Amino acid sequence: MKIVILSANKELYSTKRLKEAAEARGHEAEIINHNETYVVIESGDPKVFYGDHAIEGVDAIIPRIGASVTFYGSNIIRQFEMQKVFTTLSSLALSRSRDKLRATQILSRHGLGIPKTAFAKRPSNIEYLIQQVGGSPLIVKLLEGTQGLGVVLAETRKAAKSVIEAFYGLDANILVQEFIAEAGGSDLRTIVIDGKVVAAFKRQGKEGEFRSNLHRGGSGTLVKLTKEERAAAIGAAKALGLGIAGVDMLQSKRGPLILEVNSSPGLEGVEKATKVDVAGKIIEYIEKGIKKPQSSKKDK
Ligand code: ADP
Ligand code: GLU
Repeated sequence: MKIVILSANKELYSTKRLKEAAEARGHEAEIINHNETYVVIESGDPKVFYGDHAIEGVDAIIPRIGASVTFYGSNIIRQFEMQKVFTTLSSLALSRSRDKLRATQILSRHGLGIPKTAFAKRPSNIEYLIQQVGGSPLIVKLLEGTQGLGVVLAETRKAAKSVIEAFYGLDANILVQEFIAEAGGSDLRTIVIDGKVVAAFKRQGKEGEFRSNLHRGGSGTLVKLTKEERAAAIGAAKALGLGIAGVDMLQSKRGPLILEVNSSPGLEGVEKATKVDVAGKIIEYIEKGIKKPQSSKKDK
């Protein structure tokens, strides 16, 4: 098979591992920077160009699209979809999962556990927003944040009010969320491929840190998921239409609460913590998927 990995950086751990895993299984793998591709749209001939030539003869693509180029990246994926090329990430699932608010709405509609979350452009009275999520302490999140940057824990009502006002003053889009204290600065990161959890580990924030992100100094340890946690991870990937997903959950008194569903989960943290060959499993998913026609899911 010829597999194209769409990635802006061929030196990234995940990109390199995917190429290696594809080649180890006897496939041809090429890394193409989606930002350098362009499309020419003519009737009945949806091609993607790179340099002076069209990218052709591709059996599958693995999109690894960064958050800053979601719009452009999803259009490139769509162009491949129109050629009936198998993709590990559909353009629709990418745009659904990238938008934290939209993803949260979809998860809630599917009855999956989520922390109580409020979103407002600029309410006349911030107190009501604070009350809705159960008062302080609470979490304020920038909609566009990643790696734990832009996530603030406001311990008191006064602090919450001033943090929210400050974000509004900057014209930022924010979520206000109940703080799950019993998670104790840890969360579960699970990787779901083709409806199965293939790897899971627990991330623990360093002492005194409520955020467990590896980028914030957190560390990973192995865990065995409960049935409920496994079902939540699989349900979240399914609700968003993701064949591959990194599902982050908080362990709360009322069961697992989904924090985030990542459509291009980083492989380094999980492969190092669990020793699972996640890249290999992604290639296996393509090998299986290519044999059956890919269903296109309608936006809901
Ligand atoms: P990012 O997408 O930037 O990683 P997250 O929403 O995943 O942001 O939050 C980063 C970390 O902060 C999480 O991994 C978790 O440890 C902690 N956290 C986030 N939301 C909550 C919450 N509502 N209650 C408790 N801890 C939280
Ligand atoms: N994306 C990174 C990974 O899965 C982790 C992000 C973080 O936890 O800071 O390896």
